[in-house]
Amino acid sequence: MSSATVTGPAVIADGEGRFVVDTIEVDPPGPGEVRVAIAAAGVCHTDHASLCWPGPLVMGHEGAGHVEATGEGVEGFVVGQPVLLNWAIPCGNCFQCARGADPLCERTHELDVPRLGDSRAHPGGTRWRGRPVDRAFHLGTFASHALVRAEAVTPLPPNLPLELACILGCAVMTGVGSAINVANVLPGDAVAVLGCGGVGLNVIQGARIAGAGTIIAIDRVPARLDLAVRLGATHVLSTDGDADHVRLLAEVRELTGGRGADHAFEATGRPELAFLPLQLVRNGGNALQVSGAHGPATLPLTDLFWNKRYMAPLYGGCVPSRDFPRLYDWHAQGLLELASLVSHRYRLESLDRAFVDMLDGRSTKGVLLVA
Ligand SMILES: [Zn+2]
Ligand SMILES: [Zn+2]
Repeated sequence: MSSATVTGPAVIADGEGRFVVDTIEVDPPGPGEVRVAIAAAGVCHTDHASLCWPGPLVMGHEGAGHVEATGEGVEGFVVGQPVLLNWAIPCGNCFQCARGADPLCERTHELDVPRLGDSRAHPGGTRWRGRPVDRAFHLGTFASHALVRAEAVTPLPPNLPLELACILGCAVMTGVGSAINVANVLPGDAVAVLGCGGVGLNVIQGARIAGAGTIIAIDRVPARLDLAVRLGATHVLSTDGDADHVRLLAEVRELTGGRGADHAFEATGRPELAFLPLQLVRNGGNALQVSGAHGPATLPLTDLFWNKRYMAPLYGGCVPSRDFPRLYDWHAQGLLELASLVSHRYRLESLDRAFVDMLDGRSTKGVLLVA
């Protein structure tokens, strides 16, 4: 389908901790590509970190919008169709994709849109101030348009509001998928979740959907614990005034028959808490770090004894073609809550305020309204 280059606003990180809102040019899609008119984009801690990635960079990796144009050979999409973007783009046929480990795709870096000046066949792409510009995770959703590979796009059901749908592509998928796909929470299991932000609350939803019998939500902010109960937590524990976690460990043990939880998740983003799940689980239990916390952390190796498993899963084990339709169904059935997670809405120009609200723990999930 032929179409012209379009222009529109985008948030561009400078690589030194700052950003500007400015106009970008986005070329028509080449073979295998889709140009998406973004309607809404979720704001995540990773976006804040991306301010210091090598720039300039069109920011944003959670997004939903409408197909605006499709390139040669793209099938299964029509112009105007609502779609969701996923940031771990699987090729579908490498060693890892063939074994169902899509987030570990070995060819994902090839699944980018070639840029003007690249030696590859189709010299298109996204430009800022006349020069090709990179996009976060090959997407760049804090923009009016994103030119992406078709493998990054999943159709959305027509009745799901895009300002809710956009958070499915990162926070919801990571949380729910870590509980269901990775930890394999089973009916009756006991689950502890450390940190009730955008990811932790979705671990709680995933554990509830899987039929967990005991779901212990742990946080220092009372309002987050209230929301955790609405989303499925059966017990809440505050970490306030318990810096060495002595009370926390005793209470989790007491709530789990003196044994420890079957699964414990760290979703705080704080490296010093990354190994705490090992102390919250029973022998043979699953400890998971799902926050993507960076930085050094140490643990006594004895914490890993007694057949405990420690995992740091990527993207909740997301297989887009399997998992996103399942999330849509759960939302349609009232099992997966989205509306109460999106606590704040902003224009692109107010990204600074979105970051402050996120870092201060005021917002559960902020969403940029682009269109
Ligand atoms: Zn692959
Ligand atoms: Zn994210």
